[in-house]
Amino acid sequence: MTTTHQDCRTLDAQDPLAPLRDHFSLPAGVIYLDGNSLGVLPKATAARVADVVTREWGADLIQSWNTASWFDLPQRLGNQLAPLIGAGPNEVVCTDSTSINLYKVLSAALNIAREDSPGRRRIVSERSNFPTDLYIAEGLCKERGLELVLVEPQDIATALTSDVAVLMLTHVNYRTGAMHDMAATTAAAHAAGILCVWDLAHSAGAVPVDLHAAGADFEEWRASKSADFAVGCGYKYLNGGPGAPAFVWVHPRHASRPDLNFMQPLSGWWGHATPFAFTPDYQPAPGITRYLCGTQPIISLSALQCGLDVFTAAEALGGMAALRTKSLALTDLFIQLVEERCAGHGLGLATPREHARRGSQVCWTRDEGAGVHGQGSGAYAIVQALIARGVIGDFRRDDGGNGPHKDILRFGFTPLYIGFEDVWNAVEHLRQVLDTAEWQRPEFNQRHAVT
Ligand SMILES: *Cc1c(COP(=O)(O)O)cnc(C)c1O
Repeated sequence: MTTTHQDCRTLDAQDPLAPLRDHFSLPAGVIYLDGNSLGVLPKATAARVADVVTREWGADLIQSWNTASWFDLPQRLGNQLAPLIGAGPNEVVCTDSTSINLYKVLSAALNIAREDSPGRRRIVSERSNFPTDLYIAEGLCKERGLELVLVEPQDIATALTSDVAVLMLTHVNYRTGAMHDMAATTAAAHAAGILCVWDLAHSAGAVPVDLHAAGADFEEWRASKSADFAVGCGYKYLNGGPGAPAFVWVHPRHASRPDLNFMQPLSGWWGHATPFAFTPDYQPAPGITRYLCGTQPIISLSALQCGLDVFTAAEALGGMAALRTKSLALTDLFIQLVEERCAGHGLGLATPREHARRGSQVCWTRDEGAGVHGQGSGAYAIVQALIARGVIGDFRRDDGGNGPHKDILRFGFTPLYIGFEDVWNAVEHLRQVLDTAEWQRPEFNQRHAVT
């Protein structure tokens, strides 16, 4: 049965999560389908940041480390975030960037593998993983004389051989929105004695994640589905603002190992057991605190807290489970409407239809040569024409890969602030851009630095 504009309005009227949109400052006339890249500004953030600057910093100065609880902000935010990713209390800190946190956990994982299972000299990852993840792994491999093995998703299982130290994957693929089965993949890696590092950049706040399971001793660990390390991003679905601090989680089994050989390498004073003792030697703080490095960016962390507060408010409305239900309904609707209303324009669905394999975004490919005068796919120009109409998605260049070249139009659906009528309107704009060939105008075919 076809869905009408009125049906979409009805779905919004019945949506129990609809009030959450009020927590955000969405510009008028914009349908924002790029929250997977930079989340929207929460209404509370500007006042909170102003208060941190003028009162906590301006008036109270250095006392605020204590009086405003600046000092433990990375841990407090980590605890606030933990339920979104199935982590326990005192297992997460918000700090540094995803890239830097990945360097820390991948190094620690390699240190652990070197001690526990020497001879494992490979890191396995997915060829289409986000580039910074691959670059960090490549750098570490050079530093340590290891090998980075990049495979297609369907070849991961066979790549888990006895010479592999770490499997490093991103849960939801940034380009296609395809999602791994984290528990099954982790269990397969553990059965082969391989540690798992998960990047949750496109998962945290978008899909429920369950990092945790017990697994204290080695045999239990080998049989467990609990991840070993995870990192993720603060400025995407968590709405922490541009360049917001990221987060890092380490399974307690690994986080508190006493031997310094198991340490993350950025052993700065904020990860010290007693930073204000100012001793000349490094003693790691217990647990996840040792994954902090230097003095924390309090203003940025305060902005991130406003993003996390919205998830705390969402708890009363069903939390991540309800957000996931809505996210799937939004992405299902978008797929259905684009296929019904934009047929015949060379758009191919790149995101899995199967719910269990889909994150919170929908991507479409367009064939190379379908653009103006056969130049490129036209995907970039279509996205630009949509942006000019206030529908903000983005474009990702295809990496070539093994198959034919395909460019991607990417649309993220943040269930906190996107509604069903937004989906209808976005598809209607897309239909007009395609039907009238508006995207072929020269101004939409000029490339900008950030796509
Ligand atoms: C967005 C994203 C990052 C970003 O890393 P930064 O250090 O914040 O630039 C890293 N990995 C993945 C998978 C991402 O999607």
